[in-house]
Formats: sequence, structure tokens, C-alpha cells
Amino acid sequence: MKIERSQLSHAMCAACWNKRSSNHQPTRIVFNIPLELCCYCGTPTKDGIYVRAELDDPKVLCGGIHMSISDPLVDQATSIVHNAITEAGIEYSDSSVSFESLGVDSLMLASIYVEIEKQLNKEVKIDSIDPKVTVDDVIQFVAKILGPSIQTPSVPETSLKTPGNAGNP
Ligand SMILES: [Zn+2]
Ligand SMILES: [Zn+2]
Repeated sequence: MKIERSQLSHAMCAACWNKRSSNHQPTRIVFNIPLELCCYCGTPTKDGIYVRAELDDPKVLCGGIHMSISDPLVDQATSIVHNAITEAGIEYSDSSVSFESLGVDSLMLASIYVEIEKQLNKEVKIDSIDPKVTVDDVIQFVAKILGPSIQTPSVPETSLKTPGNAGNP
């Protein structure tokens, strides 16, 4: 998945925005924001603030080739899905194509999901096995499964209790 953006539309982190225009609120994009580097300071940002600026503006660091860093979850999901597909003996070079167009029927796709489950080491709930989905769709699906377990630090149950709770020894 790749979101194309014009050379003149630069990502700006909230800190840079506040430095520049603290007197008014930015227009934010609130969905599908990739993790990017702020074109003004190089900090990773998902603030969803984009500003228009000419490339010869000395403050713009990117020179028009916006610095993007890939989402580690998507990277991880990509390699899991890729392994499962190649394990099934299927070759592909473009992840935006559907399984159907790769000659994968639902039976074969089911076996790919089984392989994905094996690699994730957990059961995955799949509503329907439809070869019309693209490889990218499955990557996004797997990234979502990976998401919570990685992003949420596991908090030991005991630390959730307030010290001195009645009943505690
Ligand atoms: Zn830029
Ligand atoms: Zn910045």
C-alpha cells in the first residue's frame, strides 16, 4: 500500500506546526496516515498535517522526495504473507494483484491462510475466503492482527491494582 502525495505537499509534525503557526489550528487528515518523516525536522510523524511549500524553500528538507519510513507492522505482515504465498508455490511480483489473477482458487487460498496462521502462531478468524482479495488486502489484514499484540505493552495484572486496596495482603 502506498499513498502518493504531490511533491509540494509536505508532511509536518505538530511541533513544527506549532512553531510556525501557533495562532491557528492545522487542517488534519485523520485516516490512512502513513508513518512519515516530517519534511521540516525529520521526526517520524503520524500527525496528518500537510502543508504546501515550494521545493526551493530552504526549510523543506525532503527536496520533493518525501522521506517515508515503512511501518514495521506492515513490513512484518508483508514477510509473513510473502512466505505463506511462496510456500504454496506461487510466484508473484506485484502485491496489488488479486489472488484470482495469480491463479489461486479458494482452496489454495485457504491453505495460504493456514500457513499464515502457522507463522502467526495463532488462529485467525476469516469471514470468507475470496480469491478476489489482493495480496495487499491480506497484508493489511495480517498487520491488523499483529497490531494490538505489539503496540500494547503487556501490563502485569498486579500493576493494575491500586496499592493499598482493601483485601490486599
Ligand atoms: Zn516533503
Ligand atoms: Zn517537524
